[in-house]
Amino acid sequence: MAFGISDDLLGTFVPVAVYWIYSGIYVMLGDLENYRLHTKAEEKAKNVASKSTVVKGVLVQQVFQIAISLLLFTVVNDGSGVVQPQPSLLVILGQFMIGMVVIDTWQYFMHRYMHINKFLYKHIHSKHHSLVVPYAFGALYNHPLEGLILDTIGGVLSFLLSGMTPRTSIFFFSFATIKTVDDHCGLWLPGNLFHLFFSNNSAYHDIHHQLYGNKYNFSQPFFVAWDRILGTYMPYSLEKRKEGGLEARPIKKDLKMN
Ligand SMILES: [Zn+2]
Ligand SMILES: [Zn+2]
Repeated sequence: MAFGISDDLLGTFVPVAVYWIYSGIYVMLGDLENYRLHTKAEEKAKNVASKSTVVKGVLVQQVFQIAISLLLFTVVNDGSGVVQPQPSLLVILGQFMIGMVVIDTWQYFMHRYMHINKFLYKHIHSKHHSLVVPYAFGALYNHPLEGLILDTIGGVLSFLLSGMTPRTSIFFFSFATIKTVDDHCGLWLPGNLFHLFFSNNSAYHDIHHQLYGNKYNFSQPFFVAWDRILGTYMPYSLEKRKEGGLEARPIKKDLKMN
């Protein structure tokens, strides 16, 4: 217990709060024209969904996420009220690693299948792709069914298979949330630690949101391993845009642009 609030409740609600706080920081940072991966004009022209539609869409998804999370913690709870002791830091780090691999593996194959299956793409996954120019709080703008299958079930599997405690999951799910928001921030900011530690980042995922990159860079949110192993990796370079700012441009060698 922390301040009388159970780890189950914290594991459920902290990641939701973290989503809005972290993307709120990006909103407060403003437009930062010189670090944007796309111009504002491009965002206006290409993004079909309005900002208010996106906020409502994310909130709906988070309601589902909260319900499943509460259900999961109720099921795994033995009802004794005794808080599971935390293992050593090394074990926790190992559980984090397993959790990341599980989420990545689940999301890669589900995400890729949603692109292969035309029905699923048209009716479910295309909603996420309606933001051709991604921005932070649009990260979880998904069809509720996609949120459930990709994010929530992926999260449940990572929790169960890694054996992490509900307390660890507060940090793990918050970290996964921050990473997902960061991958959609639409900016290439100097000093961003995620860019240092992960080759899966805002530019990498930006490629996937473009029409030409739609069949590439499915990996999310942590590593790029599955794209590399299964040949769906689209290499890119960051180039200066003539209007200012940077742009992720694909390096088009031996790639079928479909
Ligand atoms: Zn996609
Ligand atoms: Zn995305």
